[in-house]
Amino acid sequence: MTAPKKDFDFARPKTIEQLYNLVQECQHEGRQFIFSAGGTDIMPNLKSEILSPDIVISLTGLRALNNIEKQGDHIIIGALTSLSELCSNNNIQKYLPALARAAHKVASPQIRNRATIGGNIMVENRCSYINQSPINRESHSPCFKIGGDVCHLVKSAKRGDDILCQARFVSDTAPLLLLQNSTVNIIGPAGSKEIKLADLYLNDGIESKSLMHGEIITHIKVEITENSLSHYEKLTIRNALDFPSLGVAALRRGNGDISVALTGLNTRPGVFHAKLENHETSDDMIVDICRKANDFTVTYQQDFFPRGYRKNMISVFIRRAINKILEGAKS
Ligand SMILES: Cc1cc2nc3c(=O)[nH]c(=O)nc-3n(C[C@H](O)[C@H](O)[C@H](O)COP(=O)(O)OP(=O)(O)OC[C@H]3O[C@@H](n4cnc5c(N)ncnc54)[C@H](O)[C@@H]3O)c2cc1C
Ligand code: SF4
Repeated sequence: MTAPKKDFDFARPKTIEQLYNLVQECQHEGRQFIFSAGGTDIMPNLKSEILSPDIVISLTGLRALNNIEKQGDHIIIGALTSLSELCSNNNIQKYLPALARAAHKVASPQIRNRATIGGNIMVENRCSYINQSPINRESHSPCFKIGGDVCHLVKSAKRGDDILCQARFVSDTAPLLLLQNSTVNIIGPAGSKEIKLADLYLNDGIESKSLMHGEIITHIKVEITENSLSHYEKLTIRNALDFPSLGVAALRRGNGDISVALTGLNTRPGVFHAKLENHETSDDMIVDICRKANDFTVTYQQDFFPRGYRKNMISVFIRRAINKILEGAKS
C-alpha cells in the first residue's frame, strides 16, 4: 500500500491543555482533525483514503495516560497502554489473565508494541467492501461509509434506516472488558465524565461509538470479580494478523452464573447472561446462551469464512470458551 494521497499536518501535544487549545483552534478554523494513539488502525485507513483529515493529532505525548494501577477492587488502565505492556503486566496477569490472552491475540508482536488499549476499544468497524485499497474499491461506487449513496453489502439499505451500515465490530479486548463491568473515563472540551463501556457502543457501523468528536478516553476502570474464571476464544484463518471472524469471552462468577460477550458478529458487541439456578443442567444453560447469541448475530458475507460456517461456529466457540472455565473451576 502506498503513502496517503492527501497531505495532512501532524501534531503531538504534551498536555491535555495543549491538546484542547489545538482542538479549539481546529474547530475555529474548520480544519478536520482525527486522533491517533498507536496509529495501527488509523494508518491503513489513511493510506486507503477512508480517512482524509487536515490534521492528525497524536495522543502519544500524553504520557500520564500510559499506566496500569490496582486501586482496591479495580484495575485502572491508561488508554495509551500498549497491548504488549498489557499482556506482560503483573496485575493484568494475576487478576485479568483472559484480558492478557485477548490482547495477545490482536494482530502481531510488532503491532501490539504500538497498538494501545484505548485504540483497541475504539477500533473502527470493518467491512470487506470498505477495508481494501482505493484501486480495488474503484470497481464499486462509494458506499454510505465514505459519503456515497449505496451499501454493497445490504443492497436494500437506504438513508433513514435505523442501521445504515453493517460494518462489523471487531475489537478483541472489548468483550472481556464488558464482562468485567468496565467503565471509561472521558475528557473533552466540555469537561470530563465516566460512562459504562457498554454505553460507548452504538448500533450503526458508521456512527459506531458514542464519543463526541474531540473527546478522548483517558482511562479504563476494570472491576476485579472475586472467585471468577474467564477465557477468550477467537476464530481466525491464521493465528496472527487477522481480525476476529468471531470472538467469544466467557466469565464464570463465584455463584456459578455465566456471562458471554461476542465480537465480530454484529455492528456492536453482544453480552448475554445466564443464571445456573434457572437451568436444570449447565448444558441447558449453555444451550440458552447459544440461542441468545445466534439471535443477536448478523452474519452478512463480509469475512474470509462463508457466513454459514461462521454462524455454525458461534455455538462451537461459546461452548469451547465456557467449557474452559468450567474445567478450570473443577481443577
Ligand atoms: C494487520 C493488522 C491486523 C490487526 N488485527 C487486529 C485484531 O486481530 N484485533 C483487533 O482488535 N484489532 C486488530 N487490528 C487493529 C489495531 O491494530 C488494533 O485494534 C489496535 O489496538 C488499535 O490501537 P491503536 O492505538 O493503534 O489505535 P489508533 O489507530 O491510533 O486509533 C484507532 C481509533 O481509536 C481512536 N482512539 C485511539 N485512542 C483513543 C483514545 N484514547 N480516546 C479516544 N479515541 C481514541 C482513534 O481516533 C481511532 O479512531 C489490526 C490492525 C492491523 C494493521
Ligand atoms: S456495510 Fe457499511 S462499509 Fe460495508 S458496504 Fe455497506 S455502507 Fe459500506
